Amino acid sequence: MAASPSDIETLPGFMDWFVGEPDATRGEPVGVVEVHRIGATFSRSLTEEERAEVLGFLHSHIGAHKEYKLFGTLAVPLAEISGERIDEVRTVAREIELAGNHGGSYLDMKCMVGLPFGARRDAAEKKRATFGGEILEDDEKCALVAPLVIPLRQDAGTVAEINKYLAHERKSIGDVELDKPPVFLAELTMVFEERAAAEALRPRFDAVGLTTKVVEHVSKSVFWDVVGWQERWLVKTGRVEELMRPGVFSTAGFLGETERLDEVLKEDARTLASLGITAKDVASRIREIVGKALRRSMKSARAEDGHEIGRFRVRFLKWGGYQECPWLCTPDPGWASIDFVIEDRRSGAKLRGPGLIVHLIAEHGFFEGKESPYRVDPREAAEVLGLPRTFWDRLFRR
Ligand SMILES: [Zn+2]
Repeated sequence: MAASPSDIETLPGFMDWFVGEPDATRGEPVGVVEVHRIGATFSRSLTEEERAEVLGFLHSHIGAHKEYKLFGTLAVPLAEISGERIDEVRTVAREIELAGNHGGSYLDMKCMVGLPFGARRDAAEKKRATFGGEILEDDEKCALVAPLVIPLRQDAGTVAEINKYLAHERKSIGDVELDKPPVFLAELTMVFEERAAAEALRPRFDAVGLTTKVVEHVSKSVFWDVVGWQERWLVKTGRVEELMRPGVFSTAGFLGETERLDEVLKEDARTLASLGITAKDVASRIREIVGKALRRSMKSARAEDGHEIGRFRVRFLKWGGYQECPWLCTPDPGWASIDFVIEDRRSGAKLRGPGLIVHLIAEHGFFEGKESPYRVDPREAAEVLGLPRTFWDRLFRR
């Protein structure tokens, strides 16, 4: 359930900011800003100082992720391009690559064919069905642009072979009515950390007859840095529940859309107190029982019926990945990648939960929200696990 705009002010720390997604995913934010295509949408609950802190981070951090892309393009009628001319361009690219020491990386060469259809979008659509590619539109004119599959490395194709590919391409365009003759496009690109290095190599691209430009942009890798910083910021400013909502750290979420963490924690603490046990008692009992089963499973092959541990039967499921703690601790990945079922063999009562719950209960007193399918209810846990344990339990009941 998504919060409506009027709910925004009641959310403790609503803030979304993602690369290329400046719109809030939940309701209307109080402010939307864009810093080098990184969108930031702010909740009304953020103070002026907090917004300034986030913006300060974005501005300072994004600077460190700036890159400079050198473009060299060649656009000529397809009828005029030859294997020799393409070889000339790829030879320069190869020489630059082999020489190294230019401060650049990701040298790439792409070739495309453009079919100008003028205002006839429907004709372009029709051709696309057999020719592939995508339709680019500009000032009511459109062109179908498709990648040209020709070998661009000398070791993969000789000049004679490229000429064969070109002849095949001209043939596959066939007898189609166009606004202008088909165009051959080649694009050579290279990425640099420093603008000066990009400019230094630009004359090499110019010399082979390419139209060149250097464009500043922000590296995609900034995204994960920003997300990581945002997570730490939310925890630091007491807004951990933002990370617990469905779809953030897990699809199902640690809390429902509108549940409040402080209320869940308080209520569970009251339940534990009324039972005369602590969160640590519950966590260590689960750790003891499931831990024994885990150690046993490492020694022997899979047990179809689970592992018998005292009066319990324990089954578990191992996942490929592991669940992160929303407080950003680093829990044991062995525990954070399993789900368990503890069954009392006599009564048949079961307790299910994720392995991470042991950490969440012990370190944070958190049993997950009532709306979370992974909640381990403290009262049910106490019942199945036989808590509180008496002196006699410790001696005789395992
Ligand atoms: Zn933690």
